[in-house]
Amino acid sequence: MTSPKRPDEERVLQIWQNKIRIADSNNIFCHCRYCGEEWVTSERHPTCGCGSRDIEAIACWQFPRANAHNSS
Ligand SMILES: [Zn+2]
Repeated sequence: MTSPKRPDEERVLQIWQNKIRIADSNNIFCHCRYCGEEWVTSERHPTCGCGSRDIEAIACWQFPRANAHNSS
């Protein structure tokens, strides 16, 4: 009996990396430069509710964890 290698593991890893990539692109933080609206979307080229397309889009994972910036 031979114990077969498990290519499955590599495969699973790749699948997960894909999922993470998809998750990343599904969490795009948008900021409208025109009206200041902020929201999260999965759209690559989002349009603001105000009609502006001047959107700043940032992937959520790019945000620093420590957000000590308090503005209200
Ligand atoms: Zn807007």
